[in-house]
Amino acid sequence: MSTTVMAQPKRPEIKTALPGPKGKQIIEADAKFVNPAYPRPDFKLVAERASGVWVEDVDGNIFLDCNAGVAVCSTGHCHPEVVKAIQEQAEQLIHICGTDYYYRHMPVLAEKLDSIVPVQSPTKTHFANSGTEAVETALKLAMHHTGREKFIAFFNSFHGRTLGSLSLTSSKAAQRRGFKRQALDVVHVPYPNEFRNPFSAAECGDGGAGQGALNWIEERLFKTTTPPDEVAAIVVEAVQGEGGYVPAPKNFLKGLRRICDEHGILLIVDEVQSGMGRTGKMFASEHYDVKADIVCIAKGIASGLPLGACVARADIMDWKPGAHASTFGGNPVCIAAALKTIELLEGSLVKNSAEVGDYLKSGLEKLKEKYDCIGDVRGLGLMLGVEFVENKTSLKPAPELRDRVEIAAFDRGLILLGAGTNTIRWSPPLILTKENVDIALEIFDQAIAASV
Ligand code: PLP
Repeated sequence: MSTTVMAQPKRPEIKTALPGPKGKQIIEADAKFVNPAYPRPDFKLVAERASGVWVEDVDGNIFLDCNAGVAVCSTGHCHPEVVKAIQEQAEQLIHICGTDYYYRHMPVLAEKLDSIVPVQSPTKTHFANSGTEAVETALKLAMHHTGREKFIAFFNSFHGRTLGSLSLTSSKAAQRRGFKRQALDVVHVPYPNEFRNPFSAAECGDGGAGQGALNWIEERLFKTTTPPDEVAAIVVEAVQGEGGYVPAPKNFLKGLRRICDEHGILLIVDEVQSGMGRTGKMFASEHYDVKADIVCIAKGIASGLPLGACVARADIMDWKPGAHASTFGGNPVCIAAALKTIELLEGSLVKNSAEVGDYLKSGLEKLKEKYDCIGDVRGLGLMLGVEFVENKTSLKPAPELRDRVEIAAFDRGLILLGAGTNTIRWSPPLILTKENVDIALEIFDQAIAASV
């Protein structure tokens, strides 16, 4: 296997059966020794190296990556400036433990986040290693600050798999099966999915699904199971990620903000998947002109190094030493990668996400016109979902067709991943070009034609 940096091809190159012979060996070893609970899809990518939007597998096959390691490699794979920042930092200081000692990286990144995260400044930031840890922090902080212990979350949401965040997560039964009673007192509300509005016309009035969800909370929950003065926080994804790439309606987040303000409830916006430029703005909440009390970030923040952040209003993060900390969270190498990532995002990549996202979306909308099995194309920036249905009349979900399309795309060298039961998510690196989009759409078109 070559150790040089990968050349940038123009198109995918598939040379072996997938997986190839070396890939098969690795998959066999993995099956013997690695956690079988990883929810891997039916196609099998065994990666060796990657550069930009291209991934090479162990057998020399080259793929166009429109998933970015599940919405993580925001600046593309191994962006040379991010690699350099990591290398330079690794030569100076890898770890000293920010919970006990100090280093400049933490305040520098926390100050930067204060200026870009949609939470009223001044803020304070807790550094974690993952999305779920950022969410755990937000949950603990909300309980600690309000003295309350109930939470409101939404069906089909995904906030992580550790025991606190799992109490919120509700996108698949497999995530909860076997874990018995949940750790936290969480009540779930249907998410206002405008394509599949779960509320009745009476519940929505003239405000659509967004109003339906707000009424559900105020008229149903608050008056029955969940008195508002016992609710610590409402936790919401501005764009549902694992639930199927479903953006919130415009009036919904503003309505949640109002409800929270009226009842002393904290608004926690989980931007783990939708943040860091993915939606064509630095944070999805900016599309809604809403400021949360606490924002959770991870995935795209450090281009692939493990970093999570929980950014809260400074007056809310008022807990005392010992209440919450992490040995590795905010490691100097991860922060160096994050600072370079943010510089690149602010430089051109957030703008590129908006522009190339619009271009990709209009191409997907043309495919929706062409194929009866595409029920919905939705999303913001480079966070786009394509929902597969049996036909446009019934709009019945077509999960098996979705899976076949995903595999057919992979067999042709395009990496895409499902979200929800019957949606394919597009979450490419934010460096994606229009030329890349043309190739991706051509392959997606072929994959659908081969799968219907
Ligand atoms: N929150 C959201 C919105 C996510 O999409 C995810 C992961 O997909 C998480 C939290 C959990 O992140 P992690 O897998 O880094 O724990």
